[in-house]
Amino acid sequence: MRVFQNACIVTVNSDFDVIRNGTLAVEGKKIAYVGPHKEFPGTETVDCSGKVIMPGFVNGHAHMPMIFFRGYTDDLNLQDWLWKKIFPLETRQTAVTEYHGALAAAAELTRTGTTTVNDMYYHGEHVARALKEAGLSGIVSSCLMSTNEKAGEVLQSAIELADLYRNDEDIRTAIAPHAEYTCTPEDLRYWGEVAIKTGQPIHIHCSETRSEHDECIGRHGKTPVELFESLGMMDAHMLLAHCVYITENDMDIIKKHGASVLHNPISNLKLASGVAPIPRMLEKGLKVAISTDGPASNNTQDMWEEMRVAALVHKGYLRDPLVMDAKTSLYYATKGAALALGYEDRGSLEEGMRADFVVFRTDSPAMNIPTDMINLIVYSGNSRDIVMTVAGGEVLYDNGEYKKLDIEKVMGDARADFENIFRDR
Ligand SMILES: [Zn+2]
Repeated sequence: MRVFQNACIVTVNSDFDVIRNGTLAVEGKKIAYVGPHKEFPGTETVDCSGKVIMPGFVNGHAHMPMIFFRGYTDDLNLQDWLWKKIFPLETRQTAVTEYHGALAAAAELTRTGTTTVNDMYYHGEHVARALKEAGLSGIVSSCLMSTNEKAGEVLQSAIELADLYRNDEDIRTAIAPHAEYTCTPEDLRYWGEVAIKTGQPIHIHCSETRSEHDECIGRHGKTPVELFESLGMMDAHMLLAHCVYITENDMDIIKKHGASVLHNPISNLKLASGVAPIPRMLEKGLKVAISTDGPASNNTQDMWEEMRVAALVHKGYLRDPLVMDAKTSLYYATKGAALALGYEDRGSLEEGMRADFVVFRTDSPAMNIPTDMINLIVYSGNSRDIVMTVAGGEVLYDNGEYKKLDIEKVMGDARADFENIFRDR
């Protein structure tokens, strides 16, 4: 057992309790105690005086191996960014670069406090391996596109990956058709059936831009959400990334089927896609997870930053300060995000929950005056104040030191792969 003493604990439990001078005890992968100060004689103790413990972030949508393209092509809209710049260069990714890229992204997630991530990339097995090595957990998937002549092989490997991790404590899998505009209805229907038969969620991009929304109606006479429903896909647990352009009817369909919306406010702003109507979705009772999207469209994997922008953008867009308060934003970056991804065992600090949390200091100039801790976290805090990241009860990062990753090797390998991918550019 390891005991964290003298901390301010932001629980994100159903009462949103903040415990001043609290104790959190970890046994194995789980939280054994959280509450007012309590002694546990003879156990290993970590003194957290002057520090705060809060749940690790749950990142609803990412493309971890895209770290190589960060900063390479910015200030474009989604379609130009994707078709002219990203897709051509992604053909240069290999098994090795996907793995190294995912490891480098895992280091960034760890450093910035994310402990669970839902990722989509070409070969989920490389991301799964990187997550395992980094000590993180999450959902991995292999992206399916009808435009890919090897889609059949990708699907076969996705089915094998699901079998491999079926009883794994840390890795889950999803079936991941890329989007309506890269997949035929026939393929979407079939891949949906595979997801249902193998008991996996479907992770897909949905209504990210106005052109996607309009073109889908032009092609099929339906919005992407209506199309997915008509193809039977909504009978799986749908993890719908973006949902920027969605109708009231789309939201009703999402609600009816218990699907989840993965909200990427920074990526949507940066690619000029728009602002998803998240406050309206929350009013309707939809499940939502705040997410970073990939590192090339954000350009960080920092959920703290994402949580802050999520709390700000809807206020400005709707000219209403009440539509997304600090508590709501923190909730949908932790507990709410976990539930949206189908995890009941994480996202809040309570006995029996998975021991996924971060410890951060409050002696920085921005955090020094202890008024309301949740407001401080969302509007003043910064992931740079994180001193420790714990996932599944294991310390992954402690005062600048990675405990599981050889960070110099991880950074060096990623840098060498970058030189290779961009060799004649
Ligand atoms: Zn994405």
